[in-house]
Amino acid sequence: MKQRLARLRSILDSLGLGYMLVTKIENVRYLSGFGGSSAVGLVTPTDSILFTDGRYKKQAPAQASGWEIRVYTRSVFREIAGALPAGERFGFEVTCSFDFHKKLSVEVDQGRLEPLDSIVEGLRATKDAEEIELIRAALGCAGAGFEAIRTMVTAGSSERNIAAELNYRMTLAGADGPAFDTIVSSGPNSALPHAPLTDRPLSEGDLVVVDFGAKRDGYLSDTTRTFLLPGADARAREAFEVVSGALEEVLGSLKPGAKASDVDALANEYIAKAGFAEHLSHSLGHGVGLEIHEKPTLSTISTDVLEPGMVFTIEPGVYIEGLGGVRIEELVLMTQRGPEVLSADIRV
Ligand code: ZN
Ligand code: ZN
Repeated sequence: MKQRLARLRSILDSLGLGYMLVTKIENVRYLSGFGGSSAVGLVTPTDSILFTDGRYKKQAPAQASGWEIRVYTRSVFREIAGALPAGERFGFEVTCSFDFHKKLSVEVDQGRLEPLDSIVEGLRATKDAEEIELIRAALGCAGAGFEAIRTMVTAGSSERNIAAELNYRMTLAGADGPAFDTIVSSGPNSALPHAPLTDRPLSEGDLVVVDFGAKRDGYLSDTTRTFLLPGADARAREAFEVVSGALEEVLGSLKPGAKASDVDALANEYIAKAGFAEHLSHSLGHGVGLEIHEKPTLSTISTDVLEPGMVFTIEPGVYIEGLGGVRIEELVLMTQRGPEVLSADIRV
């Protein structure tokens, strides 16, 4: 955590700022270790202060070591204003709510507020060793949960039953809960990349997309597997082969320093060449950590570069209306030598 704060301070320094308010709760967690749901951090040139409420009186000092804890009973805005030297400019995160900004502006002159965009999020894009271990642990819970429900994915089981069992099994395996609403979409439903859960029973020949992740100690995992139930027609099998091929193509060529937009283009070209261009529907991947979608972004318009230490998904997919969809999503750690597929053990 100390190193994370030091990196932040050197960025603030280069921006000519000594002080920064941290409002996004995942950023607060990243910098302080505090895992509660409500707190504001203030980073100063020499100190770091955590403002939180009475619910976290015990938890905050236990988790945010090295941080001064101030439990507020009335207005957090007045507390913040009181901690800032008179007239000092300070950064705040543009992701804070309009309401937060408005109330803060009542306590401090607007001219002192410097909007900061994606500063801590930028630091979070490359994971340190501790974070990689936490992501591996979350993924371990997801993998164990999936292993327990794999054989349920057969004709007759309903989407809802499979999802409920998977959530339960991930939690039993040590997860604090699912990382996001588990997707189990079958047959024609799977043609929607983010299909809502239904009571539809799986039937022979279905494509079944299971997109799931576990949350543990604040960190998340994200993986998708597609099942091809016995009796699937040739078009469904072809779609499956194309998506598997695109995934292999990308993983085989990924190198540190690659432009995320080039990697996205490679998958799209592969799928287009196979004749499935009209069935593409989303970008290739996204960073995963304290949030399920974070930096880097693997898309056509991304300007991100894939650096060692980044953890992100590679999730090519094709979606055919009336028939169904195929998506295979791996969670990847970029290393100096190339990608390590963290989710390789999760098998259909
Ligand atoms: Zn996913
Ligand atoms: Zn994803």
